[in-house]
Amino acid sequence: MPELPEVEALAGYLRERAVGRRVDRLEVAAISALKTYDPAPSAVAGRAVVDAGRHGKFLDVIFDGGLHLVVHLARAGWLHYREAFPSSAPLRPGKGPVALRVRLDDGSGFDLTEAGTQKKLAAYLVTDPAEVPGVAKLGPDALRADLATFAERLRSRRGQVKGVLTDQSVLAGVGNAYSDEILHAAKLSPFAITDRLTDDQLAGLHAATRTVLGDAVRRSMGQRAAELKGEKRSGLKVHARTGLPCPVCGDTVREVSFADSSLQYCPTCQTGGKPLADRRLSRLVR
Ligand SMILES: [Zn+2]
Repeated sequence: MPELPEVEALAGYLRERAVGRRVDRLEVAAISALKTYDPAPSAVAGRAVVDAGRHGKFLDVIFDGGLHLVVHLARAGWLHYREAFPSSAPLRPGKGPVALRVRLDDGSGFDLTEAGTQKKLAAYLVTDPAEVPGVAKLGPDALRADLATFAERLRSRRGQVKGVLTDQSVLAGVGNAYSDEILHAAKLSPFAITDRLTDDQLAGLHAATRTVLGDAVRRSMGQRAAELKGEKRSGLKVHARTGLPCPVCGDTVREVSFADSSLQYCPTCQTGGKPLADRRLSRLVR
């Protein structure tokens, strides 16, 4: 799932490539992906792309006259920039992975795609991003929050730090992958309880958040966004590396179930060498 660094890179790519171009038309192939009906997709035609930005994990493409195309890429969504499209024929609804297509006046443009059968990509055409329910409830941006804000937000919700860090209403932008990386860099157990974290632990977690996300943004920006793959991230130390050695200490990265997914961590770096109990497994055994 694209998180803050990937969405930041996509916004940066759009700023470089699309700003100043006018929209020929916005085509909607997956009717269910567009969550708004007023303004209509035709309202974008003729408008110039003036900027692109990000709200947490939401991408925001901004057109002149104050119209925003806000997109949540969900688990398997992505943005593909096209130098040219193979055909000028409009997309046929319900065919293929393309959910929305934006054609620009120089023949280039971009597709918002979604792989797989679970269709969760959500796009909103709005005059104010705050009209998007998921944007309205976002907490402060994880990359921009200062230490005082960060500590206040983390302490505002009592729970396992892995869950609180990925709660978009606490802090915006961090998901399953980067929370594993941040907790590893901070040498914290994913199951540590937020209101028992010391000031030093919170300061370390804040520093780790900025470092991990900042480095990932720079790596993502360094690649061409068209080649950026949401699931092919480079530089991860524990996430999706179960069974491989921790690059910091050499211990074996382990996995444990968490919420409806799983998390990865290093016992030596994060839990005093003790593997975490897999609650799902122990429930089955009992
Ligand atoms: Zn380690």
